[in-house]
Amino acid sequence: MLSDSDRIFQNIYGMKDRSLAGARARGCWDGTAALVARGGEAIIQEVKDSGLRGRGGAGFPTGLKWSFMPKEVGERPHYLVVNADESEPGTCKDREIMRHDPHTLIEGCLLASFAMQAHACYIYLRGEYIRERQALQVAIDEAYDAGLLGKNAAGSGWDFDLYLHHGAGAYICGEETALIESLEGKKGMPRLKPPFPAGAGLYGCPTTVNNVESIAVVPEILRRGAEWFKSFGRENNAGTKLFAISGHVERPCVVEEAMSITFRELIDRHCGGIRGGWGNLKAIIPGGSSVPCLKAEQCDDLIMDFDTLRGLGSGLGTAAVIVMDESTDIIKAIWRLSKFYKHESCGQCTPCREGTGWMMRVMDRLVRGEAEIEEIDTLLDVTKQVEGHTICALGDAAAWPIQGLIRNFRDEIEDRIKARQTGKVSAVAAE
Ligand code: SF4
Repeated sequence: MLSDSDRIFQNIYGMKDRSLAGARARGCWDGTAALVARGGEAIIQEVKDSGLRGRGGAGFPTGLKWSFMPKEVGERPHYLVVNADESEPGTCKDREIMRHDPHTLIEGCLLASFAMQAHACYIYLRGEYIRERQALQVAIDEAYDAGLLGKNAAGSGWDFDLYLHHGAGAYICGEETALIESLEGKKGMPRLKPPFPAGAGLYGCPTTVNNVESIAVVPEILRRGAEWFKSFGRENNAGTKLFAISGHVERPCVVEEAMSITFRELIDRHCGGIRGGWGNLKAIIPGGSSVPCLKAEQCDDLIMDFDTLRGLGSGLGTAAVIVMDESTDIIKAIWRLSKFYKHESCGQCTPCREGTGWMMRVMDRLVRGEAEIEEIDTLLDVTKQVEGHTICALGDAAAWPIQGLIRNFRDEIEDRIKARQTGKVSAVAAE
């Protein structure tokens, strides 16, 4: 188990002082100017060496992403944008950083921006996160008052401004190019890539978009060193990670643990076990609502990291683990996700705009058993036609949960259809 002293987020539960004085007592802003003095390339190299992979879902190496920014600042300024839109169902980890440990993020913004030669950073915050906005703004104001932001930030010689921007509550604005569009004051619609943001991002300028947790862990990685961070987790899955566990466990929680912890240890140690015992586990969605579910049998020795979960046809995503016990109507649970993605599609590409509605309507009928058995394969076929054929990953996010359902619970879908046809059960109505 990860020891308390190895936890980067020392106030994730808000039990301690979240003010600047409290954060300083926990080690934030310790020697920040000296970290900056190492130079941008050294910081990027250290982050690369640490093996940090983006914590927003895709798991792309953070240091490598930073190195895509132009080496020299040309006519156009560089920007860092922090993606704090956290809207994936089940995901609730970044909010804990922002409301309880905000200085980890603010210091991270300074260091990451310096490394990429950005004098300005925007934090794009989810519209519904009112308390988080208040807490973060208080922390930013404190940092300005203490000279940690602004001209010669933290005595580093680097001028740096940090802005907090409140979104309007659209899931799609968590997609990095839709986020940039929204930040520019336009409708939050994803852009075609290329060009990638590192070439032409915010206001057409070189931009890197990173998740809150990815940025907030950087100061501690630089202070303790890449080797320390790499000592947690398996090869290529390094570091500590915030896991957000919800659903049918005794005590849902957000907890920082070592990457590659087993699912069983995560649940037993931090969540008090599965509701009704391990024999009552039916399925999990291991990484936020967009990844395919896994059956209970796959969870026995399950290692929670990027590569293991990808190997099982699912994903670590944001490490938001949704646990479902035997009382769950899994068809209805996945139908609800289909309804969500249909609602959140921005509508600019046909496979997503039409496909999400089409898939939801078939799921509607599957929940009630009002379908033919052959339609299961037709639905699977449609998910494959949506997957990979859209501008952004929302199409995949809508397709994958259904693929997981059909892969793992086809029997249950067929049983419901047969029962309906023979009038054996009262169907469950989709609401
Ligand atoms: Fe919009 Fe969906 Fe296309 Fe993404 S995949 S750009 S959300 S229509």
